Amino acid sequence: MSDTSVSIAGNILDVEKIRKDFPILSQSVRGKPLIYLDNAATTQKPISVIERVHNFDAKEYGTVRRGTYKLSEQATELYEGARQKVADFMGAEKKGEVVFTSGTTQAINLVAHSFGKRFVNEGDEIIISNIEHHANTVPWQVLCEERGARLKVIPVDDEGELVMEEYEKLLSPKTRMVAVNHVSNALGTINPVKEITQKAHAVGARVLIDGAQSSAHMKLDVRDIDCDFYTFSGHKMYAPSGVGGVYGKMDVWEEMPPYVTGGDMIMQVTLEKTTYAKPPARFEAGTPPITQVIGLGAAIDYLNGIGMDKIADYENALLEYGTRLFKEIEGVRIIGNARSKASIISFFSDSAHPHDMVHFLDQDGIACRGGHHCAQPTMIRYGVPATTRASMAFYNKPEELDALAESVKKCVQFFS
Ligand code: PMP
Repeated sequence: MSDTSVSIAGNILDVEKIRKDFPILSQSVRGKPLIYLDNAATTQKPISVIERVHNFDAKEYGTVRRGTYKLSEQATELYEGARQKVADFMGAEKKGEVVFTSGTTQAINLVAHSFGKRFVNEGDEIIISNIEHHANTVPWQVLCEERGARLKVIPVDDEGELVMEEYEKLLSPKTRMVAVNHVSNALGTINPVKEITQKAHAVGARVLIDGAQSSAHMKLDVRDIDCDFYTFSGHKMYAPSGVGGVYGKMDVWEEMPPYVTGGDMIMQVTLEKTTYAKPPARFEAGTPPITQVIGLGAAIDYLNGIGMDKIADYENALLEYGTRLFKEIEGVRIIGNARSKASIISFFSDSAHPHDMVHFLDQDGIACRGGHHCAQPTMIRYGVPATTRASMAFYNKPEELDALAESVKKCVQFFS
């Protein structure tokens, strides 16, 4: 391990101590220590989250919002307490601005359907970018088809940065929504979301930021960005799967109709007519993922305990270290070299297809993702069928990147 990596490990975080919080990381895979580098797909869980979820189910479980008995009142308090934690974590003004969903995919569908129904009409325009996850592409395509609106796409340059001059040209008084990610899952690019938002607001458009890849990797401040919506997925934030959500400005939420209807989202139901509850309840029909929300609250406590600024600094140092290693590997090129990047290295080798690459890495106990990462338009843009992606978290060590680089070298030689 180089001097730089020693200083990364030593100066910013005590990574060995942190790793003890994640039981799964101490196991071996195929006789080798597990090296988990698929954190952009999903993250592992600290023991505090695992125990919180277990204890809630074992001792405190009850339905929320309905009961008038102790268990239910207590569960409701915990559930709403978790909403407050999420709101604080994101920098929201009011806790009611956070709506829980099953994750980012459902969150974007909620906004596309509900906002679209209320505000998007024939001839209107929606803007996305060329480096979006399918979750932030398909719902807008469907909306445009349904409403007779037009989808416009911000191009991306060879390094993986959005071409801002082209973005400005796409904006017009017809623009209703600009929906872009904060961090691209396929390339790692951190987009200038504040500037994107300012420019969209200048033409009267609303802005949705897909925060699936940013929420657990940097300090969030939705009020500073001034976006109208910001989505997140719990399973990418060291929390259980099945929960996530979306922050939205209260004045926009208030004007939006429900997406899913049924119990818990109503003010009053008669057989003739239903009136709806205020947000966030209006958008949370049915029994929510109660245990998972409690787990999300515990994950946020855990992240706050380490500190989001420290996490960002550490992961940035890991990224720099890994990028240097990869630049030295012959026959491999990094796809996505934006100036501002999160801890994702997406790479391509002409000799080994990403699917062969990930099988090869798996033999060395290394978990990486190979594929189009649900970003086929991005792959098309860079002329590759797929990439191999190493995505890092604060529990990864520089030594693991050394092992990855060695394994990648072996793989490239093997297939050459
Ligand atoms: N957007 C981005 C940028 C993502 O990386 C992902 C997950 N890979 C999603 C949206 C969808 O998130 P989820 O599967 O948690 O709904």
